Amino acid sequence: MSTDPTFGNPFLADGAWRRGNIHAHSTNSDGARSPADAVRWYRDAGYDFAALSDHRVVTDTTAFASADFVTVPGIEMHGPDPATGERYHILATGVHGFERSDDTWSPQEAIDRVTDGGGIAILAHPYWLGQSAHDMRGLRGYAGLEVFNSVCDVTRAKGFSGLTWDEHLLHDGLTWGFATDDSHWKHGAEGRGWVMARTADFSPAGIVAALRCGQFYATMGPEIHDLRIQDGAVRVQTSPARRISVIAARARGSSRLAAGDPLTSAVHDLNGTERYVRVEVEDDEGKVAWSNPLLV
Ligand SMILES: [Zn+2]
Ligand SMILES: [Zn+2]
Repeated sequence: MSTDPTFGNPFLADGAWRRGNIHAHSTNSDGARSPADAVRWYRDAGYDFAALSDHRVVTDTTAFASADFVTVPGIEMHGPDPATGERYHILATGVHGFERSDDTWSPQEAIDRVTDGGGIAILAHPYWLGQSAHDMRGLRGYAGLEVFNSVCDVTRAKGFSGLTWDEHLLHDGLTWGFATDDSHWKHGAEGRGWVMARTADFSPAGIVAALRCGQFYATMGPEIHDLRIQDGAVRVQTSPARRISVIAARARGSSRLAAGDPLTSAVHDLNGTERYVRVEVEDDEGKVAWSNPLLV
């Protein structure tokens, strides 16, 4: 476990904020846009980086990168999930060393192949898969899970995996929460969930390093402007919100609802039993932002 105070807290890190989506499909798997069109959509929408994550294949996107737009090699891997009896879905970003995944790989082998090549593995859409934190307890080395997956929200109302994340945080230690579109270009899922990474190194390796260290927050739109633990309290500043929640282990934590004017800040006085804290911000359209957890 890192003792670096910026671990999981981009607000204490240096660098610029970079908006990116790391889960999208192209015609190289079951997406309806070509790789070039899929990446162009994100660039034109104002994103700073994007990864295509086609099923079982790393799509080469290097030709679509430019000085102000970074592409990162990605993949979504599948194989038998011994816990659920179905197929696992493991998203990977910063993939090097293989161009295709193999459905004979166990979940742990898939994670290890990604991390051996310097990438990060993320447990995709656990709620939609019916995958509990208990199912995943034997796995090691993944960077986090998708706390929000847009296409699972749009098509099945199973996009939000905050409960699963808290189960992980209670039992397994720190793990990060990612928001993604999982765009297939058929369901209107694009542009609804992304990460804001903070890094001084605007390169594929710099983006992956920031994601690995939790130097990002996930959002559907609301902004988190600052988050720190100071003088025995969690202090957060946000864009206008109807609700700001500080979520902690078991019965701990607090949630504040706007009464009249929107909220733009919240303070949670720590009582020493929270174990971890993470912040959720909800705006008046029901869009949510999620900080990464901090140990307290
Ligand atoms: Zn999937
Ligand atoms: Zn997918």
